Amino acid sequence: MQSRDLPGTADAVIVGGGTVGAWCAYFLRQAGLSRVVLLEKGMLGQGASSRAAGVVRLQGGTPEAVRLGRWSREFYLRQHAELGCDSGFVTQGYLLPCFTEAEVAAAGSRMAMQISLGVPVRWLDSPEVDEANPALAPGQTMGGTFCADDGYITAARNVTAYTVALLRSGVQVAEHVAFLGLQVSGGRVAGVTTSDGGIATGLVVLTGGPKLAAVGRLAGIRIPAGGARHQVAVTEQHPDLHPSRVPMVFDLSAGLYWRPEEGGLLFGMSNPDEPPGEDRSVDLDYLALMRERLARLVPVTAGLGLRRLWAATIDFTPDHLPIIGPALGPAGQLDGVTVACAGGAGMMWGPAVSRAAADVALTGATDVVDVSVLGLGRFDEAGHSSLAADPVALPFPQALLTQQAPPSPPAVSFLQEQPVPQAPGVQRTRALPNAQAGRQAEPPCTGTGQLGEDPSAMTTTSLDPPFLVTASSVELEDWGALPEATGEPMHTSGTTIWKDGGQEAGVWECTPGRSHWTLESNEFVYVLYGRMTVTTDGSDSTEIGPGDTAVFPKGWTGTWHIHETMRKLYVLF
Ligand SMILES: Cc1cc2nc3c(=O)[nH]c(=O)nc-3n(C[C@H](O)[C@H](O)[C@H](O)COP(=O)(O)OP(=O)(O)OC[C@H]3O[C@@H](n4cnc5c(N)ncnc54)[C@H](O)[C@@H]3O)c2cc1C
Repeated sequence: MQSRDLPGTADAVIVGGGTVGAWCAYFLRQAGLSRVVLLEKGMLGQGASSRAAGVVRLQGGTPEAVRLGRWSREFYLRQHAELGCDSGFVTQGYLLPCFTEAEVAAAGSRMAMQISLGVPVRWLDSPEVDEANPALAPGQTMGGTFCADDGYITAARNVTAYTVALLRSGVQVAEHVAFLGLQVSGGRVAGVTTSDGGIATGLVVLTGGPKLAAVGRLAGIRIPAGGARHQVAVTEQHPDLHPSRVPMVFDLSAGLYWRPEEGGLLFGMSNPDEPPGEDRSVDLDYLALMRERLARLVPVTAGLGLRRLWAATIDFTPDHLPIIGPALGPAGQLDGVTVACAGGAGMMWGPAVSRAAADVALTGATDVVDVSVLGLGRFDEAGHSSLAADPVALPFPQALLTQQAPPSPPAVSFLQEQPVPQAPGVQRTRALPNAQAGRQAEPPCTGTGQLGEDPSAMTTTSLDPPFLVTASSVELEDWGALPEATGEPMHTSGTTIWKDGGQEAGVWECTPGRSHWTLESNEFVYVLYGRMTVTTDGSDSTEIGPGDTAVFPKGWTGTWHIHETMRKLYVLF
């Protein structure tokens, strides 16, 4: 799927090869656009989309959620006829049990709303719940809502399905190509800058799942979205867990859900007390709490081993609702750019969000859902939403607003910095959008388009002081194997922009792997693309990626674990 031959122009460029970006690219082709390019900085599906639990629910907490769930379910059901392949939707039935009077009351009004929209949801009283769930400890619930049409897809199969759809429909998929910024002229997008060069286009859709805020920063747009660790496990098989005996269940009060999988139970949950972040290690302590809660409700699971266990980063928005709408830059609406995010429900809502985003990108309107309330305009400067949160959602971290959303663009005309959580000994900063003088939060020497400037002015590269304009795509010299590599061989390339004695500035690129460093001078870095985990010896780790800067003081010792080929600007001083 890798494409090194990016076209110079395209009818549309979609950023992100997850379920939202990929289906959106497919729908844009279906709508008649000829040259649709999908940019994925890694490989299709490498984000949240290949790691999801696959739950698809009509029982949404808001009318918009219901409509998005229904549209997506119908899409999954017609996929085979349309594409010759599918995402593996299984109709299983979903129970949302209630444990308190307050939950019963909330479920009642939710159910009324859902029924008014045609959802075949019904109330099961406590004995009916037990009857429908022989594996459930009896007498635990006060009843619950049940929708027989709800079900699940298989995340990996969905990635396969959209890969087939992209290829068949003729979308040009560019894997290992990172979006680095927008080229804007007169308040309208004129193109994108990528790690493989620029593409002129008048239509861009930005996705990114848990990394959408970072994609937004590259585009000079503030997007209040985040990522949080989410753990999923699958138990061993047990006859009591046969799919005929186990509906899907969402224990909403605890944030724990489960469904049948491979003769056992798949169950998943996020820790709401954990701050947002991209830690994908398994939290065994929290897993034990998840298992405890599960075993209280499904006792047979207590004695079962696990067949699979993973932790991944799930996307979320402050109100747990999707984002579908035009990009809002510092100077107002950025014409030609649409933002799409499934708000942590990309299996449940993804196709509908993608289709709505494609419609909005093409015509400004859609009949999938009322998007007038789902755009970026609902968030205030601090990222607070004017909408009530979807009450049927995982309890994602509430800390998003203070930890992830950058503050409003500052009224100064140069790069600003905001401290973010850091590993001891490493000063890490995050770049902010900057409205004044039309400048984006990229250093002046990157090739990323700058808002409000003529894109034709962005293609110059000069190795003469003081500027290197296209640092993101400048040709690099081979700098050979990295001596600091501690595992597999790592390869470096770079170019020196400026050198004066022990002081130096340049561009450095390195392939993935682990390396250990003892720095002989202070080093400032700005990451253009790629991602690495920085671990100070004997201390904590932090991950840095596109748009992040870090200062490593002289004498710093620690590990850089590069996950995706990284290109950075560096200054040694
Ligand atoms: C463990 C887990 C369980 C889940 N379970 C469910 C569930 O049961 N039901 C449900 O509805 N949802 C579930 N989700 C959520 C769902 O997976 C996501 O909402 C959905 O996958 C998001 O899709 P996306 O395309 O927006 O993001 P992603 O799949 O993350 O794709 C974004 C892509 O953008 C790429 N990208 C980022 N930056 C750039 C750049 N600069 N240039 C180019 N490409 C870039 C990334 O590499 C990535 O591939 C779960 C998620 C997780 C992690």
